[in-house]
Amino acid sequence: MVGAIHSLQQVSLPIVGTPDLFPVHRIYCVGRNYAAHAVEMGHDPDREAPFFFQKNPDNLVSDGGEFPYPALSNDVQHEIELVVALQSGGFEIATDAALDHVFGYAVGLDMTRRDLQGEMKRQGRPWEVGKAFEHSAPCSAITPASSIGHPQDGTISLQRNGALCQSGDLAQMIWKVPEIISELSRYFLLTPGDLIFTGTPAGVGPVLSGDTLDGVIDGVGSLSVTVV
Ligand code: MN
Repeated sequence: MVGAIHSLQQVSLPIVGTPDLFPVHRIYCVGRNYAAHAVEMGHDPDREAPFFFQKNPDNLVSDGGEFPYPALSNDVQHEIELVVALQSGGFEIATDAALDHVFGYAVGLDMTRRDLQGEMKRQGRPWEVGKAFEHSAPCSAITPASSIGHPQDGTISLQRNGALCQSGDLAQMIWKVPEIISELSRYFLLTPGDLIFTGTPAGVGPVLSGDTLDGVIDGVGSLSVTVV
């Protein structure tokens, strides 16, 4: 009989209103999906094809948790984002069928080592060291679509130490959730348990140890994290 040489823990997120857990498969992220954020990063706000990168499931931090300031960066920045949680998947999903695959929504932070990301951009190299590091994906509990539907507008905002720093509206997303799912499924086989961070509105900026970050998306939920 063959035995495993070690065991791995299944990463999961809580689900609002139930004791059940949502097991997480992959974490996908969308780049530059709000025009005002594209401009603040020095890019054209025109609607170009969405592009994607990934984080690791074990980069998740639960609501109320701590974000340890990571190594090798002096410019770690917050990006508040709507997170989509998939209950089913597939390949080449049609836009008009995409929402059928959505289990629910959450509030996430795409924490970024901006200096390392910038260096990788300059060198034409992958972004992982800037994006997919330990604790880089704080995420709230998932609110089921069965209770809130599929939000297409509503304020998305982040307070740092009680002061508003990021604010936008889900209606400002350049690529809407069904379009993101459809486009992403052309490149990857989407699977139950996948999360998609859908991009951040304007106002990204650096965090410091001791900061509290409080994100809210109207109708979806809230997320609080402490930088330690
Ligand atoms: Mn982001």
